[in-house]
Amino acid sequence: MREISVLCYDAEYRKYCSELLTIFYLVTNIEFVEASTEFADKDFLHVTKGTDLVEMRYTKDGQTHIFLFKDKDIEKDRIKTIKKIIFQFLNSIQQLDLPWGFLSGVRPVKMAVNLFLKGCTRQEAYRVFVNDYLVSPKKADLLLDLAQMDLQLTGKSRVISDSVSLYISIPFCPNRCTYCSFTSYPFDKNKDLIPVYIDCLIKELAHIQRSIQEKNQTVQSVYIGGGTPGVLPLSLLDKLLSAVDHLCTDQTREVTFEAGRPEVFDDDKQKCVKNHYVTRICINPQSMDDEILRNIGRRHTVKDIVQCFDNAVKNGFDNINTDMIVGLPGETPDQFKKNLGLLLDLGQQSVTVHTLAMKKKAVLMQNHNAQDIVNNK
Ligand code: SF4
Repeated sequence: MREISVLCYDAEYRKYCSELLTIFYLVTNIEFVEASTEFADKDFLHVTKGTDLVEMRYTKDGQTHIFLFKDKDIEKDRIKTIKKIIFQFLNSIQQLDLPWGFLSGVRPVKMAVNLFLKGCTRQEAYRVFVNDYLVSPKKADLLLDLAQMDLQLTGKSRVISDSVSLYISIPFCPNRCTYCSFTSYPFDKNKDLIPVYIDCLIKELAHIQRSIQEKNQTVQSVYIGGGTPGVLPLSLLDKLLSAVDHLCTDQTREVTFEAGRPEVFDDDKQKCVKNHYVTRICINPQSMDDEILRNIGRRHTVKDIVQCFDNAVKNGFDNINTDMIVGLPGETPDQFKKNLGLLLDLGQQSVTVHTLAMKKKAVLMQNHNAQDIVNNK
């Protein structure tokens, strides 16, 4: 896989380049440099923003291509328009068939849902994807079909301002998984901080409650995620969930508690969660293979997952989600299939499958080359 160096002093254009280049290069193969350093075995992109014109010099496989455009007058849909220009220039050289156009770092179905909720017709939404983001007609149709299904299933309508959804973050974990790029602090090192954090959260929830009452809104759903919310000590868990209970009404459709890792979600905590307004829990194995779990820095085993799950069923939870990651280091497609089968044997109500995202902040990426992970080296 080729690497690229990028020289660009303008912050706005650096951002566009870092987003768009991930369509053509692995994120770990993109390096921003501070001076012109052309290498024979690397591609090079030099973007210069003048008062009127932007010049792009793209050296690929030893050949330099130059493109100039006027960005001063681009005001309407500025970000989208400039990204489209840069993408078209890069792909005029790369010549790749990219059915998703330059959509990157977004959830396209969510975009489509939002367009519908804003009142766009299907034809108008289709034009946004095909003309503005250069998505292929086939993919645009797929997106719009999924968005319409999403709206039907969730019962959302255009008028949703009378309800809100809340996300509550518990950014503490027993330790850091090697692939993790989220905000997460080790539980042991922050023991003193956690009660203070929960008190602040509860104060914030009280403010939110006042605000939504003033606006005559109701809470439609709550998601308590992380981090690993299941790591909270019993008394703090009870305190937080009691505050969440106060926010819920008979209009509240779902309250999810993401317990996270099985080894921390013991019987007492499960019983505590069951005593509150929680309607759905998540137990996240990520893999059903002990060696892979060790490789990614998890401290639990497959046995812990099964025990935790069975106990949750005994405690009366009837809406359990389990998370799994596809593409973890050391896992072949056949192993993944086997692990997925083992996971489904649990009989949960839903499974969320994530693809491994190779983010620079993750320990895994600091110790490995992205391509080696892809090749299971
Ligand atoms: S459990 Fe989730 S948030 Fe916590 S370290 Fe692992 S990946 Fe990060």
